[in-house]
Amino acid sequence: MFDVSAAPRRLESYLSGRWSAGDGEGKPLADAATGETVAYIGAEGLDRGAALQWGREVGGPALRRLTIHERALMLKEIGLKLMERKEDFYQENFRTGATRRDGFVDIDGGIGTLLTFASRARREWPNAHVLPEGPVEMLSKDGSFVARHILSPLEGVAIHINAFNFPVWGMLEKIAPALIAGVPCLVKPGSQTAFLTESVVRAILDMEILPDGALQLLCGSAGDLLDHVMPQDAVTFTGSAGTGRKLRTHPAIVENSVRFTMEADSLNAAILGPDAGPDSEEFALFVREVSNEMTAKAGQKCTAIRRVIVPAALEDAVIDALKERLGKTQPGLPDADGARMGALVSLGERDAVRAQVERLRAEAEIVFGDPGEVRVASGDPQKGAFLGPILLRCASPMEAVAVHEVEAFGPVATILPYEDVEGAIQLARKGRGSLVSSLFTNDADVARDVTLGMAPWHGRVLVGNRGSAKTSTGHGSPLAPLIHGGPGRAGGGEEMGGMRGVKHFMQRTAVQGTPEMIAAITGEWVSGAPSRADVHPFRKSLAELEIGDQVLTDAREVTQGDVEHFAEFTGDTFYAHMDSDAAKANPFFDDRVAHGYLIASFAAGLFVSPEPGPVLANYGVDNLRFMTPVYFGDTLRVRLTCKAINPRENAEHGEVRWDCLVTNQDGETVAEYDVLTMVAKTWPMPEE
Ligand code: NDP
Repeated sequence: MFDVSAAPRRLESYLSGRWSAGDGEGKPLADAATGETVAYIGAEGLDRGAALQWGREVGGPALRRLTIHERALMLKEIGLKLMERKEDFYQENFRTGATRRDGFVDIDGGIGTLLTFASRARREWPNAHVLPEGPVEMLSKDGSFVARHILSPLEGVAIHINAFNFPVWGMLEKIAPALIAGVPCLVKPGSQTAFLTESVVRAILDMEILPDGALQLLCGSAGDLLDHVMPQDAVTFTGSAGTGRKLRTHPAIVENSVRFTMEADSLNAAILGPDAGPDSEEFALFVREVSNEMTAKAGQKCTAIRRVIVPAALEDAVIDALKERLGKTQPGLPDADGARMGALVSLGERDAVRAQVERLRAEAEIVFGDPGEVRVASGDPQKGAFLGPILLRCASPMEAVAVHEVEAFGPVATILPYEDVEGAIQLARKGRGSLVSSLFTNDADVARDVTLGMAPWHGRVLVGNRGSAKTSTGHGSPLAPLIHGGPGRAGGGEEMGGMRGVKHFMQRTAVQGTPEMIAAITGEWVSGAPSRADVHPFRKSLAELEIGDQVLTDAREVTQGDVEHFAEFTGDTFYAHMDSDAAKANPFFDDRVAHGYLIASFAAGLFVSPEPGPVLANYGVDNLRFMTPVYFGDTLRVRLTCKAINPRENAEHGEVRWDCLVTNQDGETVAEYDVLTMVAKTWPMPEE
């Protein structure tokens, strides 16, 4: 499909159900490394308002008809199929100036993020349309009025306005959480690298896995797109702070209180701990990390290290070590064998980086590299946007302004010396909000002081030392389970962070009512809601089981013999079970008490229905609490109620959560917890 030597293609947008190029020839997009025209881009005359309406009216309802797990399974299938096609994307990746290693972060990283969301959604969330969140809140003494929070999908479109630097990851990490939430997406990639995004979107749509309207693409200017946003839409933006500010205050965004998530210029830092002398492992790790972050993606990463904060006494040693490493890294054609560093995305961006370096030079001197003269390992520095690494040094970083404000979006970093740990923290905070900073130290006190000092100003902090030298994922890699975003200058947004990221595309609603109403609305049984105790619920398959199905057990006395037998048998001879005087001296007990785990074991003995049947396995308990001590002679009873049923999409079983309440002869709650089981969808189960 991708013949990179073919004539430049006219990029198309996919809006309102069809591919269309829009009017005119479009603007040429150059190969970052050779200057050859790759494609033409433009979206003149395309109806952006109609596209948003199509997403809301067609895509949204279709996605919302599916359960969370069904949506996640679609993403899994898409991710696996994209993996099969990834070599095609790598070929186009070179044309953005990125090496194969850079492409790994964008392409494999993007697909991996999609797959991570697909898997976590099925593991962590119910196979449902609505997500109950948090505990049931008791709002009345008699339990007749309760509340629960629920999350439901926004009914608008998630508009993702992305930067040029991660044409694949930048799109996939944003559409994955939105689609799992049940919200259709319209992606507007950064124009300069939109040809790669277009190829991936084309591949996704060709799979015909997503319902109509779930994914749209706008290749070209955003035009009047934001004039058409409505209250249920959400906008995410990655790019420059200037554009972000303009969009965040767009009248339609303000008027409709549209959720706006922004990730912009961030002056990330790396700090070398005062303990990390030139011979330490941490020193070597630090130098490697700084040099990698300067050269990966030619420094065009939102997380790249811009400020290199080092003890004043180690400044010269760090500069020497960095010079040696950077001296081995020359930019060149990204597809050349062994290419270590590719090109900036365009000649225009190179001009912009040079201008930013000039601004930095007002406060800092260049100690390595030359913004004017470019030496290349391969390629033509006139035609390709090559620029070698540039290291600056600022002698008075506490007084300086530009080094904490100017994001030279290329292979550029500035050394900032500090006198003491407090000074290092202050320098990091002068970035006024960053996506990530890292600290290299083997001293746990330094790690704590610096991390806690930086945390309010950072979305992520990485502490590197010899213990994680081989396993660390590195300063610059945002990871799907961790949040990505930062306060202040970094935009004030937050993305990913595991399933937290999905909630950004959902509305949280507090629902109040009787337990019966809350159970019906959330699909989860709540104490006080109707229940029935006919057939033992362990005899019911998922086809027959309903929330509220219950078993009320006989009573069982707990004797001294039981407790002593359990103590001997398990080896748990803790004094509170064995020694009356010692137990009485304990402020919580009047005498010897039964083991908590004996209570849980007796409870299982009381509620279980032992013959083979649809309950296949017990895989744990949640929220186990022992509330009232059990003394010799007390009697226990169990009420076990089916609380939540979660059928697996692609299996013959599902998970059932049971509310387990253990009470004593006085009706006091002795223990409370959720029992987690696997239950067959039908019984007997179909033969393999
Ligand atoms: P921009 O802010 O110019 O563009 C980001 C996105 O916004 C692109 O998709 C762009 O589209 C779009 N856009 C631009 N103007 C508008 C508008 N008026 N309405 C709607 N959408 C708009 O950033 P660039 O990607 O061009 O990068 C410029 C600089 O931003 C970099 O040099 C770097 O300093 C910084 N940057 C910071 C990042 C970070 O996360 N820290 C990431 C990337 C860039 P189009 O491409 O069509 O103009």
